[in-house]
Amino acid sequence: MKSKVYFINNITELDKLLNQIDLTRYIKSDDYVAGKIHFGEEGNKAYLKPQNIKPIFSAIEKVAPHTFLTDCNTIYKGSRSDSVNHLKTAKKHGYDFAPLIIADGLFGHNVIKVTVDLKHFKEVSLGACIVEADAIVCFTHFKGHDVTGFGGALKNMGMGNGSRAGKQLMHADIKPQVIAKSCTGCGICVKWCPTSAITMDKKIARIDLAKCIGCAECIAACRFAAIGISWAGTPNSVQEKIAEYAAGAIKDKKGKIIYFNFLLEISPNCDCYAHNDPPIVPDIGILFSDDPVAIDQASLDLVNQKAGKDIFKELYPNVDGTVQLQYAQKIGLGQRQYELITG
Ligand code: SF4
Ligand code: SF4
Repeated sequence: MKSKVYFINNITELDKLLNQIDLTRYIKSDDYVAGKIHFGEEGNKAYLKPQNIKPIFSAIEKVAPHTFLTDCNTIYKGSRSDSVNHLKTAKKHGYDFAPLIIADGLFGHNVIKVTVDLKHFKEVSLGACIVEADAIVCFTHFKGHDVTGFGGALKNMGMGNGSRAGKQLMHADIKPQVIAKSCTGCGICVKWCPTSAITMDKKIARIDLAKCIGCAECIAACRFAAIGISWAGTPNSVQEKIAEYAAGAIKDKKGKIIYFNFLLEISPNCDCYAHNDPPIVPDIGILFSDDPVAIDQASLDLVNQKAGKDIFKELYPNVDGTVQLQYAQKIGLGQRQYELITG
């Protein structure tokens, strides 16, 4: 049987969508429910806006009063690399209506390791609060991503729930390379690198790969497209690793996780970046499912339908973003076949 994915094309129909979902099927009144979200890096304007999730959060809170919003800290220097600044950023972005917890603690050391026994990882290192929560509601801003083609629920559950150490392991295959002729010598990448791997040499950035942890933040920070990715393995392995981290977050919560994908302000790149480019297609709507693979597949199909082409492949020709869907299906996280239920 195909997985069901519910779709509304306008935020004004959110009540209609919520009426179609029996939240009590997934969440019990005494559950501690983690609303997994990405609060958006300071400077980014495309992040998921609080007004879009507030009605859903309220509906969940009515069923389970112990509901909170959460994310893990980032590995790069920025506005979300420790809990204090992360919480300040969340509040600045309007997330002041819910209890907020940073899942992996002040500096990212509050982790729980979960055994997954998969191809890349035997165990994954996740933010403790995600593992401790009884149920998860995954709120995802669907958008493009230079490392994974696109970022959806699987990326939010995998990379997003990884501790800082876990994020490092997932990124290990990324090797940034400076394109000297494009480098203006502005030095922005030097400020963002968490390991001081970048120095300026005759006004051109130089990266010491021995110090680099592959966080890709310099690629994001550079406004002149002067840093490209040279993969240590293939672009596929990072997507497989993300799916394995998602498997760890999902483990032991069978029937206790639901997903909302927001196809709004669909930017070409991640909300981790301190800037954003204009949307690649007009707003499409909001999706709901209890299958992370089906909801991402449906989101991808809807964006491509709207664009009239494989827009993510056009943006990132060297990355096949469907690898994450194929691999997630293979390891049992869900299925790519779905039934889209509208209206
Ligand atoms: S941010 Fe880009 S342009 Fe500026 S120094 Fe770094 S690589 Fe060069
Ligand atoms: S040089 Fe490496 S560690 Fe530094 S920002 Fe770039 S990818 Fe991250």
